[in-house]
Amino acid sequence: MTTVPNVDPAEIAKFEALAHRWWDPNGDFKALHDINPLRVGYLQERCALSGARVVDVGCGGGILTESLAALGADVTGIDVAQGPLAVARLHAIESGVENEILYLRASPEEFVEEEPQAFSVVTCLEMLEHVPDMAATVRSLARLAAPGGDVVVSTINRHPKAYALAVVGAEYILGLLPRGTHDYAKFIRPAELARAVRDAGLELVSIDGMRYSPFTRRCALTRDVDVNYLLHARKPG
Ligand code: SAH
Repeated sequence: MTTVPNVDPAEIAKFEALAHRWWDPNGDFKALHDINPLRVGYLQERCALSGARVVDVGCGGGILTESLAALGADVTGIDVAQGPLAVARLHAIESGVENEILYLRASPEEFVEEEPQAFSVVTCLEMLEHVPDMAATVRSLARLAAPGGDVVVSTINRHPKAYALAVVGAEYILGLLPRGTHDYAKFIRPAELARAVRDAGLELVSIDGMRYSPFTRRCALTRDVDVNYLLHARKPG
């Protein structure tokens, strides 16, 4: 693992340890289950998915990946963590989408050497805050996209409100997320991500906030980007 550039082994170890919990809707990844319909809707509105070649970077146990396959996309899910990928492969069989998804163990830096400019849609959700150098990851996402392709990323803002909600609230007070899931210093301000996106040669389409309440388990798009947000970019055609 240490030989793979731009991968944080300590971060990956956290996901390996929790892999078996991935598909429990009330378990450690409950928030990902709760926000999934919203992000699928967001992707559906913005990207042509049916028949499209999609790469889901940092796919984990495949919550988003399976939804994309169900919408007719030809999806490749990549992740560097072995346990979550094993869970993802088994779950795809249970869901009957195993022929629509290819799961591979790779970082985006490795995978882009195999499949440069091959995907009309590139998704990388809730992963960037776990990598050492997010700008490098964004460059790989840009290279994976075909000309004219969409790149959609989501992450957490480095904002005191995000610290209060995602770290102190969710991990320590409410126990909704395992302690240590998030490292505040790695959170990313929207302006930093927008800059990385432009530096990677992508055009910024929009940034939208996402509001999520772990109590009601409901989420919605919002203009407030202080905590969670989604960014849509496009590779010039
Ligand atoms: N994208 C999924 C899972 C998010 S959890 C979803 O939103 O439902 C973050 C995932 O990113 C974990 O599975 C972790 O193993 C993976 N990850 C972290 N750093 C990575 C890297 N550099 N390359 C590939 N995957 C990575």
